[in-house]
Amino acid sequence: MCLQGIRGLRVAHWPGRGIVRRMETTVFDKILSGELPCYRVYEDEYVLAFLDINPLAEGHTLVIPKERASYLHELSDGAASALGKALPRITRAVMHATGCTAYNVLQNNGAVAHQAVFYVHFHIIPRRGDDGLGVQWNAGTLTDAAAKKTQSLMQKALAQASVAGKIDREHLHAERVASGSHIRVVDSPEVIVQLTQAFGPRGDNLVGLSDIAFDGAPALTLRVVADGQDGLVHLSPFHGDARKITDLQLEEGAKCQLLCPVSGDPLPRAQISDEHASADYYEVYLTRKLSRGESVILSDIWGHHHSRVLDNFEVLSTFEA
Ligand code: AMP
Repeated sequence: MCLQGIRGLRVAHWPGRGIVRRMETTVFDKILSGELPCYRVYEDEYVLAFLDINPLAEGHTLVIPKERASYLHELSDGAASALGKALPRITRAVMHATGCTAYNVLQNNGAVAHQAVFYVHFHIIPRRGDDGLGVQWNAGTLTDAAAKKTQSLMQKALAQASVAGKIDREHLHAERVASGSHIRVVDSPEVIVQLTQAFGPRGDNLVGLSDIAFDGAPALTLRVVADGQDGLVHLSPFHGDARKITDLQLEEGAKCQLLCPVSGDPLPRAQISDEHASADYYEVYLTRKLSRGESVILSDIWGHHHSRVLDNFEVLSTFEA
């Protein structure tokens, strides 16, 4: 969509995947810092709203987050939710002040999309029937094949994004990208390691054993015996994501026996030592070869999130929380 009459197109590079970060100081940075004046209409801890200096209509208002970002997709959830909360409120004020009953909320990202100030902002533009602003909307047709393809790509991207927020980056060290049928490692923008299969000592696949999934990804299921309890523990298959689902009620620090939930065999001991005196380490294998070179190494202490993923005999990622 484009609102005609805003201004001429500026020719600049708007990248596809490799987003160029535009970190130069903009007029909105200067308005926020007080270096430039503005007609301020609303301010809270996270958001500032002021009148557009070249309004397309009386009451044309700009709303910006205080968190610095050039484009909408760069905003944190916190800044985005503060903006989402403030926008309807400010819109009501624009309506009240101008008497308008129709308006556009416009948000441009990238020069191709008519962005001139590279600091994320929302326009609230009151509309009247005779305002001379036109909306050029060259509608196409959505085919079933194109829709399904886009839908699937977007759903995957969204699932990945929600997982990214659950990974404890402070305690995860994963830098290398690798791939294989046993593992999915994506870099988006930080490395996400997902186990897609994992085998017990007799070759039973422990990923997808139950219906339990984390953000659409099947869990890794183990049997745990500790403190007189015996039950299944479903672990998130994303390394660094500490979520688990279980009926067990164990205290942090409980020493656990880790077993294959299918064969009942104990998991094999891993040949590593660690500073955590009471921890012993056990492994599940990532391929049917049951090789130590492709494995996940887990601590047997409840709540001691020490684990490693090995790929091709090298440590791919380490989680030490
Ligand atoms: P955009 O094309 O979405 O980047 O729009 C940027 C908007 O910022 C334009 O509508 C400008 O009129 C407005 N603008 C630029 N400088 C200022 C300023 N100092 N105070 C208020 N609005 C401004």
